[in-house]
Amino acid sequence: MSILTEILGHNTQFVARKEYEPFRATNIPDKKLVVLTCMDTRLVELLPRAMNLRNGDAKVIKNAGAIVSHPFGSVMRSLLVAVYELQAAEVAVVGHHGCGMTGLSCERVLEKAIARGVEPQLIQTLRSAGIDLKGWLRGFESPEDGVRQSVQVVRNHPLLPRDIPVHGLLISPETGLLDLLIDGYAELKAAAESARKA
Ligand SMILES: [Zn+2]
Repeated sequence: MSILTEILGHNTQFVARKEYEPFRATNIPDKKLVVLTCMDTRLVELLPRAMNLRNGDAKVIKNAGAIVSHPFGSVMRSLLVAVYELQAAEVAVVGHHGCGMTGLSCERVLEKAIARGVEPQLIQTLRSAGIDLKGWLRGFESPEDGVRQSVQVVRNHPLLPRDIPVHGLLISPETGLLDLLIDGYAELKAAAESARKA
């Protein structure tokens, strides 16, 4: 049975048995939180359980590595929509130990693309056209660095309100243990104090 057949078969039963009922929620997050995290398979159920997030509690944005690769890309747009349109009042960037985006090699990805039938000439053409593949297919040195970079881009974004705390955390994909890397409340307090002194 294909995965699609399996999904559709399950879905018919799921709806017929009204198994959706415990998941009913509105689109406004009860905890006024937006989470940016990684698409890692180990986090699918573990992360919400470990953070006590139930359906309706938070907006969750996922990509490879919880990276904000461009301040005017889709991740940042989603964060801003969560804040301005959906009442999110805090941001949490949650990276994880053992993330596959650690030391991602652009060359290795492109080699695999070529092995799967992408013409090497095409890659050359993209490069000649000024497309920075290396900058685009990029991970981070360590998951800690990844979280710090993402938090920095979000916190310094010109369109984000200055009073939104942006937290940085790392989760263990084995135990769900969270390490707090950046306490967004403390950062806001420090910023307010330095503004007062200035
Ligand atoms: Zn990851």
